Amino acid sequence: MGYVIDPPAIPSLEVVGQLDRFPVHRIYCVGRNYAAHAREMGHDPDREPPFFFCKPADALVAGGGAVPYPGRSNNLHHEVELVVAISKGGRDIPLDYAEEHVFGYAVGIDLTRRDLQAAAREKGQPWDSAKGFDASAPVSALTPAFVSGHLRGGTIALTVNGQTRQSADISELIWCVPEVIAELSTLFELRPGDLLFTGTPAGVAALQRGDRVEASVEGLQLLRVEIV
Ligand code: MN
Repeated sequence: MGYVIDPPAIPSLEVVGQLDRFPVHRIYCVGRNYAAHAREMGHDPDREPPFFFCKPADALVAGGGAVPYPGRSNNLHHEVELVVAISKGGRDIPLDYAEEHVFGYAVGIDLTRRDLQAAAREKGQPWDSAKGFDASAPVSALTPAFVSGHLRGGTIALTVNGQTRQSADISELIWCVPEVIAELSTLFELRPGDLLFTGTPAGVAALQRGDRVEASVEGLQLLRVEIV
């Protein structure tokens, strides 16, 4: 049996030190997972816990490179994030076992049409057009956890044309990685191939065409993106 049209390709990431790639199933994202970023967006992190949204798997820009400035926006924002790759699925994953479900880590940018997000928020509408557009998820090559260890701290940063815009520490996450996995797995059955964007620290700001962006997490491969 075949398909009536050609099936879409499986999005995938390069794995540091390996020839085989990591196939991507779903992309889950955490919103407002650093207190200073929640405050800069006008929210009180003590009263509103983090939450989840999704991007389509084929929004992935594997390894970075050229990213087109999206249509229907005049306010494209960068959000540097630690990305977690899941190799073992499950429901209701206990906190103490959460890291056993992790294949490895990468650096991602949750590109956001901030103007569309503000309009959606005002009207109580979903965020898909603001967050899930084509090429909205650049992600670096994955570093396996057996190489990097499990990341509980370390600098996360983003520069635009050499100037630092975001700089924080992974240890400042409101929900740490095991907590994200435990919490998310009560809402969705996690599957091998899922990617989790864990949230961005403060300093989000607008990008322009021609900007050269470098996103980093200590111990992981640098992610380079150019807005075209
Ligand atoms: Mn984000």
